[in-house]
Amino acid sequence: MPSPKGPPELKHLDHVLVTPAAIKRRIAALGAQLNRDYAHKDLMVVAIVNGALIFTADLLRQMRSPLRLDCLRASSYHTGTRAVGEPRIVDQMKLDVKGQHVLLVDDILDTGKTLAAVAGLIKAKGAASVRTCVLLDKKARRAVPFEADYVGFEIPNEFVVGYGLDFNERYRNLPCIGVLRPKYYGG
Ligand code: 5GP
Ligand code: MG
Repeated sequence: MPSPKGPPELKHLDHVLVTPAAIKRRIAALGAQLNRDYAHKDLMVVAIVNGALIFTADLLRQMRSPLRLDCLRASSYHTGTRAVGEPRIVDQMKLDVKGQHVLLVDDILDTGKTLAAVAGLIKAKGAASVRTCVLLDKKARRAVPFEADYVGFEIPNEFVVGYGLDFNERYRNLPCIGVLRPKYYGG
């Protein structure tokens, strides 16, 4: 059993932006909305991993249709907390999206480049429809015009970790979304 106080890395956080209870409530509401919107459609969920792994796992368990799931990997080259250049998409999908109603799930919408590129790729493969669902939205950072159809939380322009989001591949296992203390960003 995890400690009731949570993992020890919680001490690395400067502040918490979204608590586990708030995440749980919001995911229940998003799940209910998706159940309504896709009630009469055969749904294929495509999760952008690794970031969307934990969000997708919790969201899917709120959904009521016999949906299908596939994953693709997207990564940006980072200098510290800033993505530089264009996202790299590694498409190793097993399922054919042609003619499918696809819901793309990602952890965070930041510059918008990743979701814009992945949505373009899925449309080009002939999906019947493509919608996007993100846990977090940092509107202030948008570099390309892109909005998600479903958003968990709008957050301020801070680099966040936890609940799937990493810094140098760590902290994905935190149960909340928070901002690291400056010394842990290597500063
Ligand atoms: P975008 O292409 O919209 O700029 O961002 C896509 C990816 O950048 C996200 O899927 C995520 O992996 C990463 N990213 C953007 N902002 C943050 C953040 O605040 N924290 C973390 N850990 N990753 C971020
Ligand atoms: Mg990501």
